[in-house]
Amino acid sequence: MIFKRYFLHVNMPDGTTVKMPYFVCGKGDPVVYIQAAQHGVELTGIYTIRLLIDRLKNEVLNGRIILVPIANPLAVMWRRHFYRMELGEPYSSDHPHQMNRLWPGDPNGNETQRIAYALYSNLIKESDYVIDLHCWEMWRCSCALGFEWDKISIDMCRYSLLDFISLEPRERFVGKRKGMLTYYITEHGGHGIVIEHSGQRWVFVKEANRVCDGIINILRYIGVIKGKPKEPKRQFVVNRGKHIDIIAPYGYWILVIYKSPGDEVRKGDLIATLLSLETFEEQKIYAPSNGIIYEIGATRPHVDTRPSEEVMVILKGEKYRIATIYET
Ligand SMILES: [Zn+2]
Repeated sequence: MIFKRYFLHVNMPDGTTVKMPYFVCGKGDPVVYIQAAQHGVELTGIYTIRLLIDRLKNEVLNGRIILVPIANPLAVMWRRHFYRMELGEPYSSDHPHQMNRLWPGDPNGNETQRIAYALYSNLIKESDYVIDLHCWEMWRCSCALGFEWDKISIDMCRYSLLDFISLEPRERFVGKRKGMLTYYITEHGGHGIVIEHSGQRWVFVKEANRVCDGIINILRYIGVIKGKPKEPKRQFVVNRGKHIDIIAPYGYWILVIYKSPGDEVRKGDLIATLLSLETFEEQKIYAPSNGIIYEIGATRPHVDTRPSEEVMVILKGEKYRIATIYET
């Protein structure tokens, strides 16, 4: 079926208007809402939605799909996670334009709150399922994030067919985290997941294709398109599956990596080399068991907003995690 394009017009505090394209296809229930780019450097999901529009052309829908490729155009044009975020400012829950902490938005709030309100009140409120597309650092494998107290959310993660899923407990949602879109809609009778693509700042085409396949499978599970959903061949639950953290030894090192997140390794495979800054001595790092790499390289939290932390230099006394491998 063919998606029809519409525009949402959102009035800004300074009297200007932000015009946002969105796409609708099908009619009746259930309603599935899919958006990308709440955060301005998370571009791959925009392309995933482009792929979805093409892929769904040949499907007959039983229900409705609403697509918003760019949920936060101001942040995308600002080229940072949040509109008005400064260079080097850490990612946090506290920034006034951190869109994924302020759902369901506010019609009289700041620019980002107004956009969230317009999306929520016009498109999301009546939706039964929400898929919110994000991207995290290229050093971590793509992952579907759901809620452990909502069986449907768990199933949506499962049918994403991604190697990694993460199931969050209710206790984690306190304070500003209650303003996360998927949490908010789950507390108001809907079901939602976040899908994190691997890689920010540019469009990773392979990731977009992988996530697009997963969304099509989730749509089969929901019953919006025909066909039986595929079962994942293998899937790890982050922090629950058996895994090994490889920590750098004491020293000043340059880290050289030979593998990427998602790569399958055999016990004894060379995955990285450390070169000493002081002696140029070399230390080889081998996979301690068979498994799949979840993270490798610059694995610190939110390295993306502090460019110096993305530089793979290890200092003495740092508990620097070179990689995390889930055992197969
Ligand atoms: Zn994000």
